[in-house]
Amino acid sequence: MAFTLSGDDVCQITHPSPIPNPYWVAFSSSAAKLIGVELSHNGLPIDPAWLEICAGNSLTTLTHQFTSPLATVYSGHQFGVWAGQLGDGRAILLGDIEGQELQLKGAGKTRYSRMGDGRAVLRSSIREFLCSEAMHSLGIPTTRALSVVGSEMPVRREIIETAAVCTRLAPSFLRIGHFEHFASLEDTSRLKELADLLIRDHYPECQNTAKPYLELFKQICVRNAELVAQWQAVGFCHGVLNSDNISAIGITMDYGPFGFMDQFQIDHICNHSDQGGRYSYHRQPQIMRWNMACLASAFLPLVELNHESNDAQTLLRDALEEFAVVYTKVWQSLFRKKLGLMTAQDGDIRLIERLLQAMHDSRVDFTYFFRQLSQVRQEQEAQTIALRDHFLDRELIDRWFTDYIHRLKSEMSSDEARQRAMNLVNPKFVLRNHLAQVAIDKAKQHDFSEIQTLFKILTSPYDEQIEYDAYAMPPPPDIERVEVSCSS
Ligand code: AMP
Ligand code: MG
Repeated sequence: MAFTLSGDDVCQITHPSPIPNPYWVAFSSSAAKLIGVELSHNGLPIDPAWLEICAGNSLTTLTHQFTSPLATVYSGHQFGVWAGQLGDGRAILLGDIEGQELQLKGAGKTRYSRMGDGRAVLRSSIREFLCSEAMHSLGIPTTRALSVVGSEMPVRREIIETAAVCTRLAPSFLRIGHFEHFASLEDTSRLKELADLLIRDHYPECQNTAKPYLELFKQICVRNAELVAQWQAVGFCHGVLNSDNISAIGITMDYGPFGFMDQFQIDHICNHSDQGGRYSYHRQPQIMRWNMACLASAFLPLVELNHESNDAQTLLRDALEEFAVVYTKVWQSLFRKKLGLMTAQDGDIRLIERLLQAMHDSRVDFTYFFRQLSQVRQEQEAQTIALRDHFLDRELIDRWFTDYIHRLKSEMSSDEARQRAMNLVNPKFVLRNHLAQVAIDKAKQHDFSEIQTLFKILTSPYDEQIEYDAYAMPPPPDIERVEVSCSS
């Protein structure tokens, strides 16, 4: 656990603030397995103390005692601007179980709450819960969610809502912002302690290298480049890629105004508060790289420990160049797989780009299209492919399908084998905003059944689950667009 670092300048013992009459809103049995929580036949913990723990009302279960709950300090760049000191304003780290840190989000004020109330509302906690578990099931690195606990305690946002606590799990909640914090204070010894712990616990491969901190920087870049490529491949927009929301171990974290795209739009903005579109879909890779550049600045004093200062800068700059190389390689590989291309051939990238442009021009549903694409058969004529009807320019898409089929034939793979492979990478089900909204609206009426249904569907996103076909469909055109903002 990284915060074995002691000292008031790093973290502060912070007890959760209780909520009245807590109740389970959602619980992930698969996350519970990670930390060995014993469950009864209804899928909830046998030990009732877990409800009190996950509510922030107690620190002891039959088997665990959390003696030093913590809130940590970090800093960061928000929307491209240095924001100075931030910190866990509403997150409290309870402790470690079996290599997972257990963190309550929304458990009350901490030293770093600034003007905030330290709380989270039911709506955003349900979204975080469902998306964390859905992402994990998609095979994308992420913080996990153990539970959401609700209470009738009122919380003021644009309107009065009710409080909830989301219990999150991760091997580490360290962020780029933790490093930026100590770098901004020119506290190289703290910076070094943090980097050494990160290497020890999460990047042991860097330990015995000639330049461990440079190597660590490179590996953080690699993991985050891979991560953002995976987001692009499932049409996921994070919404707030501030450096304090970027993980030091390359996992998706801090779910807020995120969104899976329905209609494909290259410059789609999922966060209603992001007026300039800084965090729009097509900018995510360059923004992640920008965050890695922030990390490079923070790492400069560490890399300088073993090098001349000019040398250190060049080394970090060169290492940063690798970000684009890794990202491009992973992106190309993922999109080839989405198209069912088993080999790499010249012209593949042009083929992918032509498709994405056509999808953008016609605002084709991203998830639905790629899932259905596996049904194309090599003997088909373009004009007989049902998916062509989703495009405005039929001639253009017919030309594309003709070229695609020609390309498929160059591989000699069977339609069946390709379909199986494609269905393992193109999810049938993602957490569409309108689906989450139905579950939230019901939960506000104390009906949690839709959360359970979505949880079940989204934790097997590549399976057919034909009884849930309606959940795989694009939102009906007359449905009101769900707007999500930073308010959570
Ligand atoms: P976010 O945009 O959610 O990543 O939050 C940015 C910073 O504000 C983080 O340091 C959060 O801990 C803090 N924060 C967000 N919402 C609250 C809240 N309701 N109370 C206290 N701090 C908050
Ligand atoms: Mg955050």
